[in-house]
Amino acid sequence: MTKKKEADPFWAGATITTGAHLGKDGVKTAKTIGRSGAWTLKSRRRVGVRVGCIFIDKSDNREELQRKAGRVPSKSGMMVAASHAAVCDHHSVKGARSRKLAIAQTKKSDEWCALCDAELTKMASV
Ligand SMILES: [Zn+2]
Repeated sequence: MTKKKEADPFWAGATITTGAHLGKDGVKTAKTIGRSGAWTLKSRRRVGVRVGCIFIDKSDNREELQRKAGRVPSKSGMMVAASHAAVCDHHSVKGARSRKLAIAQTKKSDEWCALCDAELTKMASV
C-alpha cells in the first residue's frame, strides 16, 4: 500500500499504442508511446487508468525499474530478474519474465496497485 502522492501520472503525455519491444521496431514503438523501452500502453476499461509495459533493458530508468520489478519465477521455478515491467499511472511496478506475462499483469493492476484497486472499487459502486 502506498500513501505517497506522486506529482504526475506515470504515463502523462504518453500515447496509447501497442507494438514490438525489441530491435528497431521496439525503438519505434517506444518513440510513439513516448517512453524509452515502452512497448504497450492501454487504458484499463472501467478504471480509466493507463497501464503499460516496459522492456527494462531498453529503459532510461533501467536501475529503478529493475529494483521495483524485482525477481520473478522462471518457467523452471528459479527466481530471475524481471525483464519486463508493467507500470500503471500511479507509478506502481509489477515485474514479469515475458511479454505475455507482462500483458497479463496490465489487466489486473488492481491486484498490485492499491490506488488502481481503489479506482475499481469506486467505479463498481457507482
Ligand atoms: Zn495503479
